[in-house]
Amino acid sequence: MNTNMEKVIIPRAEHSISRSLLSPNGVKVLYKLREHGFIAYLVGGGVRDLLLGREPKDFDVVTDATPNQLKKLFRNCRLIGRRFRLAHIHFHDEIIEVATFRSTVDAAEAALEEAAETPPEEAEAVSEAEQLENERDRRKRRHHHGPPILKSEDGMVLRDNVFGTPEEDAIRRDFTVNALFYNISDFSIIDHVGGMEDLKNGLIRTIGDPMVRFTEDPVRMIRAIRFASMLGFNIEPRTEAAIEALCGTINKATPPRLYEEVLKLLLMGAGERTYQMMRHNGLFEPLFPHFDAWLSRESDGYPHVRVSKALEWVDDQLGQGMPVSAPLLIALMFGEYLEEKVAAFREAGLPPQQATDAAVAAFAGELSPTVAVPNRVLVTVRDILNLQHRFHKTPGRNGRGVIARPSFGDALQYLRFMERLTPPKRSLADWWERYVVQQLEAQGAPIEAAGSEAAVEAPKKKRRRRRRRKKPGPAPE
Ligand code: ATP
Ligand code: MG
Repeated sequence: MNTNMEKVIIPRAEHSISRSLLSPNGVKVLYKLREHGFIAYLVGGGVRDLLLGREPKDFDVVTDATPNQLKKLFRNCRLIGRRFRLAHIHFHDEIIEVATFRSTVDAAEAALEEAAETPPEEAEAVSEAEQLENERDRRKRRHHHGPPILKSEDGMVLRDNVFGTPEEDAIRRDFTVNALFYNISDFSIIDHVGGMEDLKNGLIRTIGDPMVRFTEDPVRMIRAIRFASMLGFNIEPRTEAAIEALCGTINKATPPRLYEEVLKLLLMGAGERTYQMMRHNGLFEPLFPHFDAWLSRESDGYPHVRVSKALEWVDDQLGQGMPVSAPLLIALMFGEYLEEKVAAFREAGLPPQQATDAAVAAFAGELSPTVAVPNRVLVTVRDILNLQHRFHKTPGRNGRGVIARPSFGDALQYLRFMERLTPPKRSLADWWERYVVQQLEAQGAPIEAAGSEAAVEAPKKKRRRRRRRKKPGPAPE
C-alpha cells in the first residue's frame, strides 16, 4: 500500500463543493461533531459525486468520535453491526452514516455483512457490559503496534475493527476517488491518496497495489466496474490488469455480499454495458458458472441475445425514472434460461406451477455457492413467471385476486418486455391494464395491490365513463 503519498489540502476557493450542495442533515451532523471538538469529514461517494457535479446517493461521515460517544451525542442514533460498529443518525427521511476512523478494511462492507447477520434491533441490544468490553478492547488495540488485521492464508481480510488516524482511514478505502475528505471546519478537501488527480483524469485506481487490494477483498473488482460504468471513467491499466489476473477469485467473497454488489451493478442504469464488461474481463463466468456455460452454447445456431435485450430494457426503464425491482431484474435477465428449465421439468411430467417452482429452486441452488439470492426475492421471481401463464386466461371471479397479488406489477412489466421482444397482434399487457382500470372504477377505490404499479398508475391515464362493473371482453389469445 502506498503510504508515502503527500497529504494535499485543497482550500475552499479551489474546489466546487459548497455547503448548500450538502444534505442539511449531513451538515447538522458534521457541525454538531465539530462543536463537540471532534474531527468531522464528509467522505466517500458523497464527496466524489459532488466534485463531479453529480447528485450523491448518500452522505457518509467519518469522525474520531467513537461509536459510544456518538450514541451519547445524538439522540436519534442507532449503532449497527456487532464487530464493526457504525452509527446511523436517523432523520425524518434520511439516515446519515457516521463511522469512526478505521485503520484498515472497509466500514461499509463490514456493515453490510453485519447487517445481513444482525438486525439493527438486535445490535442495539448489545449490553452495556459488552459495549464497555469492546471499548476497552479497542483502546488496548489502538496502542498495539503489530498488524492488527486478521487475514486468511491467502491474504483476504477476514476482520478488523481497529480505530485509526484520518490518513489510515483514507488509505484503507478502495479507490483513490472514493477516499477524499471534505473538512467541515474549513471547507477544504483533504487528499491523502492522489484522488483529485484521478478524478480530473477520469480514472478508477485502487489505493496501493491492486493485486493486494483485490486479494484482500475481491468485491472491489466488481466495484471498480461499477464506478467506471457509472462515472464513465476508465479503469487505470494496473488496476485493470489485476482484475484480469484475479477475476477467478471473486467467489471468495461471501455470496450475500456478491448478491448485493451485483444487484447494484446491474441496477445502476448501465446494466447492459456492465454485463458486457464483466463477460469481457472474466468476472461473469466465476459468478454465474452454469449460466455462463449455457450462454456460451448457441441456441439453434444463434447466440443468446435475450439477456442483452432484457438488460437494455431495464436500463431504459431506469433511464425514464421507473424503478426496477430485484426480482424483476432477475426474472428478466435469467428469463430464457429459467423458461428452458421450466420446459425440462414439464417434459419430465410436472404440472406448470410445480415445474416453475422446481426450475427456480434448481436455479437458486446453482447460484447459491457464489451469489445468494434471498428467498423473498426468489418467491417473487417464481410468482412473476407463474403469473405469465395466468395472464393468458380471462379472469373469472378471481381476477381481482390476480391483480391484487404483490408481484402483479412486476409480472405485468415482464409481460411488457416479452411483448416488446415479439410484438403480438393484440397486447395482453394492454388488456390487463384495462382490466385493472375497470376494476378500480367498479370499486370506486384503489385496489390494495402492493407493488402493482399498473393498478395505481392506470386510472390516471384513462378515465372511463362507464361505472358499472363489466369485463373488458375476452382476453386475446
Ligand atoms: P455509491 O454512490 O454507490 O453509494 P460509494 O462510493 O458511496 O458509492 P459505498 O458502497 O456507499 O460506495 O461505500 C462508501 C465508501 O466506503 C466508499 O466510497 C469507499 O471509500 C468505502 N468502501 C466501500 N466499500 C469498500 C471496500 N470493499 N473496500 C474498501 N473501501 C470501501
Ligand atoms: Mg454510498
